[in-house]
Amino acid sequence: SRIPRIVILGAGYGGILAAIRLQKELNYNEADVTLVNKHDYHYITTHLHMPAAGTDNPENARVNILKLIDEFKVDFVKSTVTQIRPHEKKVILEDGTLSYDYLVIGLGGEAETFGIPGLKENALNIRSINSVRFIREHIEYQFAKFKREPDRKDYLTFVIGGAGFTGIEFIGELADRIPLLCKEFDVDPSLVKIYNIEAAPTALPGFDPELVEYAMKVLTDKGITFKIGTAIKECTPEGVLIAGDEFIKAATVVWTGGIRGNHMLDEAGFETMRGRIKVNEHLHAPGFDNIYVVGDCSIVMNDEGRPYPPTAQIAMQQGEAVAHNLIASIRGSQMKTFKYSNKGTVASLGKGQAIGIVGSRKLKGNVAAMMKKVVDMRYLYIIGGIPLVIRKGRF
Ligand code: FAD
Ligand code: NAD
Repeated sequence: SRIPRIVILGAGYGGILAAIRLQKELNYNEADVTLVNKHDYHYITTHLHMPAAGTDNPENARVNILKLIDEFKVDFVKSTVTQIRPHEKKVILEDGTLSYDYLVIGLGGEAETFGIPGLKENALNIRSINSVRFIREHIEYQFAKFKREPDRKDYLTFVIGGAGFTGIEFIGELADRIPLLCKEFDVDPSLVKIYNIEAAPTALPGFDPELVEYAMKVLTDKGITFKIGTAIKECTPEGVLIAGDEFIKAATVVWTGGIRGNHMLDEAGFETMRGRIKVNEHLHAPGFDNIYVVGDCSIVMNDEGRPYPPTAQIAMQQGEAVAHNLIASIRGSQMKTFKYSNKGTVASLGKGQAIGIVGSRKLKGNVAAMMKKVVDMRYLYIIGGIPLVIRKGRF
């Protein structure tokens, strides 16, 4: 009979782990595996706050996909997916069509703007190599412009909307970068203002309050101004309107207010919550036992019936589980029920500073910063072994 065809959409954390595991486990001629991604590189999303602020080179946050997969075992197609047709078992690409027997959807998330006017058009997002290169260049350009128009203080005002982990990690880096930019462009550091605006009653809602307080102290000492319990209501090319009808003039607004799933999932007719598909215990899209969904496109519920936050950690575990279940369905063996195992959370606050919970232990300061490096290097090791750790590791 015909060899089953597996198509994986997206080479992010979930997709790349599924591909790597499949190429390891599948026997010769057991299945055809095709991986589709819009760039020829995988990006290490968990590093993107650094190149966005300009404290690291974007090259260090990406890896050529052909260095991670074995082309004799997995076909790589560099293309953009434009449509998924689950009933026809087809995927439409910008330059062709792919048919599949089994599909893995790992296209990642998109910025969620909650319909707030002007955010989509006027705010920047930390989502990809292209978007962070743009943010870095944009920030530098504001300093250059300020030197020509010294009355334009808004060029030196930076608004970060949302104090989730992405916002907090980014302001930690930005606060490290600003003194260097001030030196380079001969700008008085006291003129630079960085606002982190958070709608919830606390930064990092849901995280350990003692560690949140520590993070805010570290970041406030580095010059960040927090506005907590203050929602952004509108974004214009001139700045942001916040709760209380205050307008902050700023030439740079970075939106880190949350993510949703890929818009193509709604268009394909799947049932979604904020663009994400609630998968069953085998990670199938409901009603399709040949379609798996991983990472930010999926929702997995915890024992209390609440969704786990979308993280690289869960995406990786899902990728591995999907590979196992794909092989099981091809061989007619037993599928596994997906169970998320939380290894902890560590977030950087800039150079030498971080907060985290690992197991039942709270970490902060330099110890946490070292743990963050260990977590990041462990990931490089899993996908690319020692050579990748040496090439891309941040020691
Ligand atoms: P992604 O990693 O988002 O990748 C999606 C892939 O699909 C990309 O390669 C993209 O190019 C491709 N793609 C998208 N659309 C198309 C298309 N139309 N056609 C073809 N290809 C397409 N999580 C943690 O657990 N720990 C952390 O420390 C952490 N730090 C983070 C720091 C930052 C700054 C950010 C933004 C996120 C962080 N996260 C962290 C969250 C984590 O990065 C995401 O949950 C994770 O990347 C989701 O993985 P994914 O497999 O869904 O897809
Ligand atoms: P998030 O959804 O976790 O945080 C967004 C924040 O924006 C929330 O605190 C929310 O209250 C706030 N917000 C929403 N609307 C607002 C408004 N109108 N005005 C002001 N604030 C508003 O999003 P994220 O930080 O991008 O994180 C996405 C996922 O990635 C999460 O699951 C997170 O855990 C994960 N992540 C993990 C790490 C890490 O482990 N180091 C780092 C980055 C991201």
